[in-house]
Amino acid sequence: MTENIPPLPAEPGRTLLPPHLVSGYESFLTGRFKSERDHYRHLAEAGQKPRVMIIGCCDSRVSPEVIFDVDHGEIFVVRNVAALVPPYRPDNDLHGTSAALEFGIMGLRIEHLVVMGHARCGGIKNFAQVDADPYQRPLSSGDFIGKWMSLIEPAAARIGHAREPMANYVEELALASIVQSVANLRTFPWIKTLEERGFVKLHGAYFDISNAVLQILDPATDRFVPLSPQVHAEAFEEPRF
Ligand SMILES: [Zn+2]
Repeated sequence: MTENIPPLPAEPGRTLLPPHLVSGYESFLTGRFKSERDHYRHLAEAGQKPRVMIIGCCDSRVSPEVIFDVDHGEIFVVRNVAALVPPYRPDNDLHGTSAALEFGIMGLRIEHLVVMGHARCGGIKNFAQVDADPYQRPLSSGDFIGKWMSLIEPAAARIGHAREPMANYVEELALASIVQSVANLRTFPWIKTLEERGFVKLHGAYFDISNAVLQILDPATDRFVPLSPQVHAEAFEEPRF
């Protein structure tokens, strides 16, 4: 006689997320979380004390935690389309990035504020393409990306209208946009004051996923210089046998 065994109930929640997220979470539980249990307990009890805040792009290929090889709790990150900082505008609109800045600077007392743009940014590319097409219609009120991207108009005005070769123009615009965002940070009165008194340092960075080159804004010249070129060259060296 065969026993009538009822089927095991499906694990609750397991089907509520895509399978690769479920397996990723399980791998986190049995790997990193298990081996760093004390560290996580400390983070939970002591709270976060990141010294660095990064304003990055939503682009899935540009994760600040991966690029800077940091752990949970080390950097305070806000990501938006194209890593833009709006100017200080105390009105009744909903200001997500400004709220994150206020929390990071005034609440967490962040010491370094990094605006990190990147190569092949869809937002920047879209702005350039729209600019290149004189037959584009004006923005509609429901075009959130278009409205958001209008933040780089001052940067675009500095370097001129879109032109060929487009890839070069998009890169030039991305770099100019980082300079603009850093300038916009200084329109927040508390950031300006804290920077002037030496409590906060502002930085610009530009990452290219194709070759892992990270360029840093030199405030003395407003030009970008590659970070750690020696280590970069060594990392790309062909192994010798
Ligand atoms: Zn982007």
